[in-house]
Amino acid sequence: MQNKKDIFNNAKTVGIYGTEPYVENIYNFLKDINKDILYFIDKGSSGKFKDIDIVSIDAIKQHRQPDIFMIGNGKSNLVVKENIRKDLIQKGIDEQKIFISYNMWKYGMNEQYDSLNADFIFKNVIFEISGTCNAKCPYCAVNSSPYAKVSNKRFIKPDIFKEALDILLDKKLIDKTSIVHLFNWGEPFMHPNINEILNILCEKGISYGLSTNASIAPNIKKEYIYNLDKIKISMPGFSQQSYDKIHGFKFEKILGNINKLINIINDKNKIEVFFYVYQFNLKEMDSAKEYFGNKGIQITHRIAFFNDYNKFISYASRSMDISELTKVSKELLLYYVDGFIDMNKNYKCFYMNNTIVIDENLDYATCCILPQNHPNYKIGNVKSLSKKEVIKRKKSQPICEECFKAGITYWMNNVLEYNDFVINGIFLR
Ligand code: SF4
Repeated sequence: MQNKKDIFNNAKTVGIYGTEPYVENIYNFLKDINKDILYFIDKGSSGKFKDIDIVSIDAIKQHRQPDIFMIGNGKSNLVVKENIRKDLIQKGIDEQKIFISYNMWKYGMNEQYDSLNADFIFKNVIFEISGTCNAKCPYCAVNSSPYAKVSNKRFIKPDIFKEALDILLDKKLIDKTSIVHLFNWGEPFMHPNINEILNILCEKGISYGLSTNASIAPNIKKEYIYNLDKIKISMPGFSQQSYDKIHGFKFEKILGNINKLINIINDKNKIEVFFYVYQFNLKEMDSAKEYFGNKGIQITHRIAFFNDYNKFISYASRSMDISELTKVSKELLLYYVDGFIDMNKNYKCFYMNNTIVIDENLDYATCCILPQNHPNYKIGNVKSLSKKEVIKRKKSQPICEECFKAGITYWMNNVLEYNDFVINGIFLR
């Protein structure tokens, strides 16, 4: 049986699912690599898109069969796309021939959300409430940068957090539809007043997101769960050996804390485990999947990556220290990086255009992955910058120019899932 990569490469004809403007990027890409678009597919609709016939998914078998099908409507989330995939299979299409191009940002399709528009509201805020983390991850800037480690040992006070939120709302940088993610480098459960922070968000009717290494027994009150969008649990493997290599925690204790968390949250849709895949934990993926599958918890296998701008740039520019490179070559999976660097050409940085990052000192950070000791780290303070200035400064940092030139923007914005692959610069699953 051919693998999917070969099927994609050998395909001459394509049927694209979707007829929205977002699909144009995929259409252009496929034309560029000399694929012939037979038709567009949609639910029930007919007519033409880009002078090519639109056929209904219900009548798909009555039409000429392309070599592959590409589900390309960029606006939809993965769940919708998975449903379209299932629909196509039900209509008799061979699963091997179906490809999902997903996440509109991966194609620079976030243009329509350009923040220069006066009505633009940041839907995602990364707000560091704990300027410290207790994990020992060797690929994270918190541990590789002494400045970040020492200076970050502080927690935002609830009244300051509230003041900042009021400012963001007043300046219309965010509204009640925005999600405030309460972490960047830090471990939010280390915050001694986390419940007061959650109470402030709940009183304002704003949703929040959490991410934890699960090293601390969760202490959040049940009444604040309602406004929780999602909690992500990051795991560096599923054994004590893997924890010894990355987080440095006791594995059994982590499992106990995760169980406590599941009981407190009491809503499996709000919990997702991210298993970070390293070379040394490949064999642990199945046991983790089974363990969390039995609990009804979603698990995603993500390929582990650098959590530090300096490491990205030194790897991409081939200036990484040889001893570090040797370690990296034995632990990380980096086979896809060239494909990601190819994707950089027309890519618009999501963090530059769509997200604000605020640290525990109320400074806007240029980028969530830039260590605090970097000269371009901050663009100004929440209390002093106007909305216009925030947007202008976010778009004019020299570091971003360097990042684009080095071809690492797309890579820094996107984490590859283990089952995905990159071919011809397109990200497929
Ligand atoms: S440094 Fe790179 S990833 Fe970060 S905001 Fe700038 S362009 Fe985006």
